[in-house]
Amino acid sequence: MLISSSLSCSLFTVKFPSGTYNVPRNAFDLYTPRMVKGKGKDKVGLCPICIESVKRGGEGKKVWLSMKFSAYNYHLQYRHGISASSGQPYLPPIAFRITVRRFPQKTEKAVIKEGKCHQCKKWVAVEGVKDVEVKVKEMFWWKHAASCHGPSNQDVRTIFEQDEYFQKLEGFGA
Ligand SMILES: [Zn+2]
Ligand SMILES: [Zn+2]
Repeated sequence: MLISSSLSCSLFTVKFPSGTYNVPRNAFDLYTPRMVKGKGKDKVGLCPICIESVKRGGEGKKVWLSMKFSAYNYHLQYRHGISASSGQPYLPPIAFRITVRRFPQKTEKAVIKEGKCHQCKKWVAVEGVKDVEVKVKEMFWWKHAASCHGPSNQDVRTIFEQDEYFQKLEGFGA
């Protein structure tokens, strides 16, 4: 059963954030914006993760992103690690290893961390070669996952914490 916007706002006692309600694939779809505004090239979607409270892993703020120029897609996939095709988090590597790099430049790392992909079975660098701090470390892996992993359908019970929110949504058979 799909949950309407007014019902979901009252269910979780949150304020209606503005915009038009956009129906997700199901209640556990982390990718699809619940709220959209504008049309065509001006269409923007509200990030469903950033709007959550810091306590619940969000940022407690409204982040509207262009749907037309893939800003939305980029943000969800490479800022949050949510697959556009499945609406679920990318699966992590199945193993890690440290590899010594053969001819590192001065500003580059001598060793690099790699993760093994369950899909293609390859070892993929999960960090950059440059010796600098990056904002979202997981991005290297997510970029590989976006191009390699097909649409997966993980059991939502393995993805979500089974807190009161989860239980409310599960009650709707979502
Ligand atoms: Zn976000
Ligand atoms: Zn792969």
